[in-house]
Amino acid sequence: MMIVFIGPPGAGKGTQCRRLVELLNIPHLSTGEMLRDVMREDSALARWLASYIDAGKLAPDHLVMRIVAQKLQGDECKPGALFDGFPRTIVQAQLLDDYLIEHHRPLDVALNLQVDEEILVERLLKRAETDGRADDNYETIRERLRVFRTQTSPLIEYYTKQGKLEEIDGARPEAEVFHSIQTAITKYQKLGIGKQ
Ligand code: AMP
Repeated sequence: MMIVFIGPPGAGKGTQCRRLVELLNIPHLSTGEMLRDVMREDSALARWLASYIDAGKLAPDHLVMRIVAQKLQGDECKPGALFDGFPRTIVQAQLLDDYLIEHHRPLDVALNLQVDEEILVERLLKRAETDGRADDNYETIRERLRVFRTQTSPLIEYYTKQGKLEEIDGARPEAEVFHSIQTAITKYQKLGIGKQ
């Protein structure tokens, strides 16, 4: 299955994705992780990327798509993939659709994990204390939430129009959220979607 996971920073996407890839046995493609890997290199590209990411801004669409396409070419993505934090803009969603259609693997479902902004800020500030991520400080958190509202949330309508959106209430305990995700995925599997 090809699955997109949408949700604001701090919604719990990472945690739920780890559980879901184990269940479905597909790779977890987190663009945030991929970009942080690039940033660990000592290169001009790494420094250029850091100027976006450390400020809570989105990395350029075509660069992100290029990194994702490289991953999708690998054999491990033959059974499908779970996209975490990608796409984040309408342009990225269109680039992904074009790529998947060209490779005869259209997207099956887009999960939207919803959580109120006050809860998100609280969770992200807590994470900042333990993870030490450069982009988990109050100013950047506010900026990332603004970027989500303005640039990423239009994807909800984009995938609704395609009949592929599943809404998940992410404010509940982790196990309950995962149960809802499983129910949504099973519905698509029963319809025979995502089978090769
Ligand atoms: P995440 O780990 O998903 O919270 O991503 C951390 C940061 O990486 C984001 O705030 C963005 O700056 C950047 N990033 C991750 N995914 C994307 C994407 N699909 N497009 C552009 N920038 C991204």
